[in-house]
Amino acid sequence: MSEKTCPKCGSVETRKYGWKILAGGKKAQMFQCKRCGSYFRGKGLAKLSEPYRYTRFRWWNKIDLEEVEKDLSKEFSVKKFSPSRDEMELALGKDERDELMVSADTLTAMLSAFRAVLFQKESASFTEKDVELRKIVLELYKRERPTPFPWSFSTEPKFEAD
Ligand SMILES: [Zn+2]
Repeated sequence: MSEKTCPKCGSVETRKYGWKILAGGKKAQMFQCKRCGSYFRGKGLAKLSEPYRYTRFRWWNKIDLEEVEKDLSKEFSVKKFSPSRDEMELALGKDERDELMVSADTLTAMLSAFRAVLFQKESASFTEKDVELRKIVLELYKRERPTPFPWSFSTEPKFEAD
């Protein structure tokens, strides 16, 4: 009996039906029986991949967040944040503390004057819209490290797209 055999009616006509997330960073393939419609869990366990997270930078010229907000609002959901007073304010002007949160489907981008963080809450394959957001952000923030000095690198993790 393969792991794809329906435990209820014994049919092998089943289809994959997403993943069940288990404790301990594991996931199990879920199936649905095409004959009786019942859902069941495959026996094999796979390791849950880490959610995508990637940081990019600009070095010399800060981004015009107002313009980016206008542009990206056409296609994505955009929220603006102005962080409250803190020590950052001593070093940076107000407009350099503002952040935009841009959401596609599973991918979100936090954009600020010189830095962008792309992240997913849960590991998932990128939709077409996610791929588009990633592309735009990587074009706006071309640098892989915060300064021209070679101390800290950020390397893009792998992602899957539909
Ligand atoms: Zn069945």
